[in-house]
Amino acid sequence: MRTAIFGDIHANLEALEAVMADAKLQGVTDFVCLGDVVGYNADPVACLNIIREMNFPTVKGNHDSDASENHSLENMNPVAAFALQWTREQLDEDQRLWLKRLRMVRQVSDYTIVHSTLDQPVNWNYVTNRFDAMSNFSYQFTKLCFHGHTHVPKVYVKSDKVREVTADSVKIEANAKYFINAGSVGQPRDGDPRACYVIYDNESEIIVFRRVDYDMAKTQEKILAAGLPEMLAERLAEGR
Ligand code: ZN
Repeated sequence: MRTAIFGDIHANLEALEAVMADAKLQGVTDFVCLGDVVGYNADPVACLNIIREMNFPTVKGNHDSDASENHSLENMNPVAAFALQWTREQLDEDQRLWLKRLRMVRQVSDYTIVHSTLDQPVNWNYVTNRFDAMSNFSYQFTKLCFHGHTHVPKVYVKSDKVREVTADSVKIEANAKYFINAGSVGQPRDGDPRACYVIYDNESEIIVFRRVDYDMAKTQEKILAAGLPEMLAERLAEGR
């Protein structure tokens, strides 16, 4: 069985549609979402509706949480806060409730999914190196756990020690645990502007990172037309 695992869509409809189309061409039958469906870009409702209607396992991201609550956003980065306030105004109560009810952590068949890290997931800590990953592994009871949040695709492997791997594909070995960051569909930050997701094949036990071109010009036009900060359109082209 081939499962597409993706997150940090961030209301980028063109990137989400391109990822879905690519996954189908790759023989994917199942989908799993790592959260941050909304925030930053201009299509929160369309992206939410796609994920919601497909009804596959989804966990909550920090932007999903912020968009579904009414707390003050003033301690946040001003660009993210502006986009979140705008996102709150686009969503109806039913859509906000759907986001609010998403779970923080889920087990899907034999693996776990979380937006940030299994080590206190409500704190939304960023795992950016193997030391951060070590804290996660203390709470990871499945062989594989998929996450997002940093928008940087990466694999942490724990055997006798914890290693950090950046590769196009990773073969799952016996006697090791894997904490896999699937990158970001809608706002990659590793310098490659193409949409990013992973395909997990549980029979061959291989994880493949996919990069997919999408109609970025259209996404950028929508961001500007919505009155969202220009910087959000510019950063898509840079992949930062
Ligand atoms: Zn995110």
